[in-house]
Amino acid sequence: MKNFNFKTATNTKEAIKLFSGRSTFLAGGMTLLPAIKLRLAAYSDLINIKKIKSLSGIKVSSKSVKIGATTTHATVASSKEIAKSIPSLAHLAEGIGDPQVRNRGTLGGSVANNDPAADYPSACLALNAIINTNKRKIAADKFFKGMFETDLKKGELIESIEFEIPEKSAYAKYPNPASRYAVVGVYVAKLKKEVRVAVTGASSSVFRSKEIESALSSNFSESSIENVNISNKNLNSDIHASDEYRAHIIKIMAKKAISNC
Ligand SMILES: Cc1cc2nc3c(=O)[nH]c(=O)nc-3n(C[C@H](O)[C@H](O)[C@H](O)COP(=O)(O)OP(=O)(O)OC[C@H]3O[C@@H](n4cnc5c(N)ncnc54)[C@H](O)[C@@H]3O)c2cc1C
Repeated sequence: MKNFNFKTATNTKEAIKLFSGRSTFLAGGMTLLPAIKLRLAAYSDLINIKKIKSLSGIKVSSKSVKIGATTTHATVASSKEIAKSIPSLAHLAEGIGDPQVRNRGTLGGSVANNDPAADYPSACLALNAIINTNKRKIAADKFFKGMFETDLKKGELIESIEFEIPEKSAYAKYPNPASRYAVVGVYVAKLKKEVRVAVTGASSSVFRSKEIESALSSNFSESSIENVNISNKNLNSDIHASDEYRAHIIKIMAKKAISNC
């Protein structure tokens, strides 16, 4: 069904009020509109949230960077504040898609969508992010449930995402040359209390590599992961890469990220 009502909300209360059984929120439309056009999804109402001022913007404190849900990838990529506090996050945003996608696509849309090959979910897991919705705060560890599946309930709106500022961090991606989505992407972060390593593109959903985290916790260096065995169990095999190849690339991307930290 390509027929739907288009409604624009000017504040979050209005967006929630406008939401009914078969509605969905519309942010950048980079995923939602193709899905509707290809008849993979159908809705009675699209609630445009891009005009809600409180959902956009960047706030940096001594411990965290809080980014509004409708902040575009281009804004994150060009933010001097983010480049200073979490340069790896600006680098990640700069590598998403193409200029058109970066100027329309939003942080909240990417995280709510949880595409297995999307970049931002790995930043959320590695930087111990909190996803703030209109109802609650959700730790990234509990947010990503599976392929295109999150802990969000129907009609729950992401308002902002708060990333912990790490001591050092880097993101390395082996991109699909056409879409720039991750065939494999690895985000490494040395936080104050722990090392976190998140892998995207390789499985049905983003995940933390406990093996690499454990090796880096005792010795934060490229050489420490040399003997880590990356299993291909539960990794994707498709036209882009086999599960064995993805397992191999995870280690290569992890080493690249560690050397860029
Ligand atoms: C050609 C192309 C290349 C791309 N390459 C990459 C890439 O390299 N890396 C990458 O990570 N991504 C990539 N993307 C995805 C893109 O970056 C967008 O982030 C993504 O499409 C979703 O963001 P959006 O703002 O467009 O959301 P929309 O398409 O508007 O919405 C997506 C979903 O999220 C929901 N939603 C949106 N905002 C919220 C909110 N605040 N709260 C709750 N639910 C919400 C919507 O209801 C919908 O279900 C690519 C997309 C295209 C079209």
